[in-house]
Amino acid sequence: MEARGADPWLGVHVLTEFVFCPRAGLCMYETPEEDSGEEILPPSLDYMPRYDLRQIEDALEDVKRRLRERLLVAMGIGAATAVLAWIVDPEVVWLGMVGLVVVGWRLPALLKRAVILAWRQRRCLLAQPREPDPDSQEIQPVDWWELLHADFRSVPYKDSLVDENWRLAGRPWRVLRRGGQRIPVFRKRRGDARIRQQHLVRMVAYCHLLCVAEAAESPFGVVLFGDSYEGVAIPNSPGLRKVFHDALVEARSVVQRAQEGDKPSPPENQAQCGGCPLGKPFVYRPGITEYKLGHETLAPDTRFGEDGRCYHSHCGDRYGWIPRHKKAVDKGLRA
Ligand code: SF4
Repeated sequence: MEARGADPWLGVHVLTEFVFCPRAGLCMYETPEEDSGEEILPPSLDYMPRYDLRQIEDALEDVKRRLRERLLVAMGIGAATAVLAWIVDPEVVWLGMVGLVVVGWRLPALLKRAVILAWRQRRCLLAQPREPDPDSQEIQPVDWWELLHADFRSVPYKDSLVDENWRLAGRPWRVLRRGGQRIPVFRKRRGDARIRQQHLVRMVAYCHLLCVAEAAESPFGVVLFGDSYEGVAIPNSPGLRKVFHDALVEARSVVQRAQEGDKPSPPENQAQCGGCPLGKPFVYRPGITEYKLGHETLAPDTRFGEDGRCYHSHCGDRYGWIPRHKKAVDKGLRA
């Protein structure tokens, strides 16, 4: 498995794209991004800690403090209004009510935040220690808090793990540490609990990097589902290690062949193109939507849709074809 002279450096996330489709893998290899150990998740507009008990408790204390302050101000306004209405003019009551509305404006949002944080805190505190069987070859369900109660400590990594000999690098979302054990954690997007081949390869690749970089034992990796505490443990089994090794060898070979001018074939199952972001056509805007290949800008491979607009896609530009993406079919794009 050691890399030889012409073998490329590969990121774990790039390797998983090769597992999905050789064309996607090459596109990702040519437009490298750092591995973040999680799928692209929708931005959280109301950030609340979820996976760290101390952060949850700090945030809960902060919300409680703000609620107390608002309550005190509301009581002050109520008392002052009552006194002024009695001494000066009963019409002052209206002024007091305006003040109470202003103070209470954000109250429902704060209460909602407090309830959510309290639920997360309770979820953590009620969990019992439990961990997957490290000798099992099966995929097993896991719970984030149960793992942490089993004495694992969650550590975010800033830098990628690297295996110089295999020319492989990657960074899990978190690493669970306990003694000499290191468990990589990957986070999938919300609402999709399917485990595909690329997730298996990813987790075994992270386990390999942890074994090499930290001389650790890494018997399984954890895939968490979206913004939940549920996930599965993927065993670092001999069978899955073989799948990972084969994927790495194949990815190296696709990159080398591409460097000699040989385009990879589309995936055997072209239904994959239907939802692939690289095959999704966009309206062509000169100077804005072209894709870059290193310092070179790819000439767009544009087609007109039935709506009369001109479309192109990353995969289409790179390989000179029209992937059968759902939107391409809807728009009536043809070769
Ligand atoms: S559009 Fe199809 S061929 Fe292109 S990268 Fe996606 S899955 Fe592969």
